[in-house]
Amino acid sequence: MTDWEKVVSFHGHSCCLLAIGYRATKVALEKLNAHLPGYNLVTVVENRTCAADAVQVVSGCTFGKRNFIYKDNGKYVFTFACMGERQALRVSLRAGVLSKEGDDFVALMEKVANGVATEGEREEFYRRQEPLMKYILEGPVEEIFEMQVVNLEKSLPELCLQMITCSRCGEEMMKDHAFFQNGRPVCKDCLV
Ligand SMILES: [Zn+2]
Ligand SMILES: [Zn+2]
Repeated sequence: MTDWEKVVSFHGHSCCLLAIGYRATKVALEKLNAHLPGYNLVTVVENRTCAADAVQVVSGCTFGKRNFIYKDNGKYVFTFACMGERQALRVSLRAGVLSKEGDDFVALMEKVANGVATEGEREEFYRRQEPLMKYILEGPVEEIFEMQVVNLEKSLPELCLQMITCSRCGEEMMKDHAFFQNGRPVCKDCLV
């Protein structure tokens, strides 16, 4: 199985957004020489689309390992850092790449992603996205992404595993997630 096949099988379909995350990660790992054993990679992903799944599969960084960090910026920007090092590689999709297929293409993709496209629109989308996906996967990398070395020192976010019981619902939560009302611990769901 190729890495791209692994990504598609994990995610469930192939699409141009998945291709963005795949190519961005491939290029970054190559530049960083990150396949060296012992390379402690942390990635910061600034969107929650199909692209994020490809980044997790190719980089090996995952939500559960805490080395996959989500920043809610709505940008196709991916930053790859080695823990303990001062500099990181920021890979961003160049403006205009996604709208290469026409201004209405992104609107069509949005309909498909939100599950509101008709059968005809879905077919049109998958037909039209094919050349763009191929371009993102195989086209000249400097045309597709901008790459910058940035100052960013990343370490794993600390994990608090000690538990405390919510005084309202009786469920346990991690201590650092507790709120206190009238001196009693309350979980976020019970907070009034
Ligand atoms: Zn997708
Ligand atoms: Zn509660």
